[in-house]
Amino acid sequence: MKSINEIRSTFTDYFVKAGHRHVPSSPLVPANDPTLMFTNAGMVQFKDVFTGKEKRDYVRAATAQKCVRAGGKHNDLDNVGYTARHHTFFEMLGNFSFGDYFKDTAIELAWNLITREYGLPKDKLWVTVYHTDDEAHALWKKIAGLPDERIIRIPTSDNFWAMGDTGPCGPCSEIFFDHGPGVFGGPPGSPDADGDRYIEIWNLVFMQYEQSADGSRINLPKPSIDTGMGLERVSAVLQGVHDNYDTDLMKALVFASADATATDPYGIHKASHRVIADHLRSSSFLIADGVMPSNEGRGNVLRRIMRRAMRHAQLIGARDPLMYRLVPALIGQMGMAYPELIRAEALITETLKLEETRFKQTLERGLKLLDEAVADLGEGQPLPGDVAFKLYDTYGFPLDLTQDALRPRNIAVDTEGFDTAMAHQKAEARKAWVGSGEASTDLVWYELKEEVGATEFLGYDTNEAEARVV
Ligand code: ATP
Ligand code: MG
Ligand code: MG
Ligand code: MG
Repeated sequence: MKSINEIRSTFTDYFVKAGHRHVPSSPLVPANDPTLMFTNAGMVQFKDVFTGKEKRDYVRAATAQKCVRAGGKHNDLDNVGYTARHHTFFEMLGNFSFGDYFKDTAIELAWNLITREYGLPKDKLWVTVYHTDDEAHALWKKIAGLPDERIIRIPTSDNFWAMGDTGPCGPCSEIFFDHGPGVFGGPPGSPDADGDRYIEIWNLVFMQYEQSADGSRINLPKPSIDTGMGLERVSAVLQGVHDNYDTDLMKALVFASADATATDPYGIHKASHRVIADHLRSSSFLIADGVMPSNEGRGNVLRRIMRRAMRHAQLIGARDPLMYRLVPALIGQMGMAYPELIRAEALITETLKLEETRFKQTLERGLKLLDEAVADLGEGQPLPGDVAFKLYDTYGFPLDLTQDALRPRNIAVDTEGFDTAMAHQKAEARKAWVGSGEASTDLVWYELKEEVGATEFLGYDTNEAEARVV
């Protein structure tokens, strides 16, 4: 059985043999796009190459790219621990053609890799194409010999990719693996497609048009290819397990969490161990790439991820800080492929430990308050927004932590009430500031912070759409 580390190299070796340059993963903080929160796909580091703004000395590339999807449009945070296929941190394997080969070669390369090199059985594979993309449909038939009923035409934006409102865009084609009847879920395009039976493993994007601001679309003279395959998902398939968390790498982390807390990895704490394993990866990789926990921007997302993991550690019954003790297990699994983890080991360990130590007390008190508030709730009643806000404001509970804590009890949070309480507090703070006759520089600073904060938030959301990617 191939390990995740071997499956990663098989991918890059295969594409190097097919004339691609093996380009290293770019950092999680995108260098060429300050408005995008985190690198969330392989194509992010090549954006300017696709638009022609930047030239490289190669026209074919292959990468294993570190990705984080926690926040913005591509937010998989709430899925983690509860689906078999989502992480906040994952690796995206990708091959890229910058105006070189197009659809036929892309499909052929992908099909040969998964069926010959990886040896996946053809009868378990399904593909989707954009509903008007007859060319891709015909190619799948010809190259893969798939029957019509396993080449599904999808009319939604799931199968049409655009870099933004303007710029390169085009149809995409997704490859699914059928994990078989023991698991809930229908084939792509069916009403229960969102289950975990048919899992999307690879997305091929055919960038063949250029969208103009006036809404018109022209054919690109030299169309390009951008693909993304989830390493953890394809590894689950190759290792004969259904769940990403049962692959060698993820399992080692789940077991490290279970060992450190002397608990059962698959018992009642199963979801918590998964959240911890996943969040350990995203937190550690973010810290290694220079993000530090804070109350704003990227640091705030990191803090939310860390605190959420800490609540799960608490839930398992960990009395002492846990996350920092798992760093050696992570480095054992991923240090070879990502030496930045080894270089940053001390920083990762200290940052996790400090945050855990600081948050521990308020976490306990906040959870107590939450329990009391829940006890007062009537059947089907959501947690009042002002309680969620108090947890946030006084106890440092990110809203998603509160929501995650209430999820097993089927209790929602009144998020509108939360927003109102937040807005109210901001207005009060502003009034107090003005009234206190503080030095005017403070006021200017406060206004600026408000402004910058708002701009950053907006920019982030719109540009997430831009890098919506494969
Ligand atoms: P899904 O529909 O399952 O959420 P997606 O269409 O959002 O996936 P893409 O944006 O097409 O995913 O990303 C390319 C590939 O990256 C996917 O085919 C999948 O294998 C992998 N992938 C995407 N999101 C995640 C995630 N949160 N965790 C693990 N792998 C992921
Ligand atoms: Mg998704
Ligand atoms: Mg999808
Ligand atoms: Mg996709």
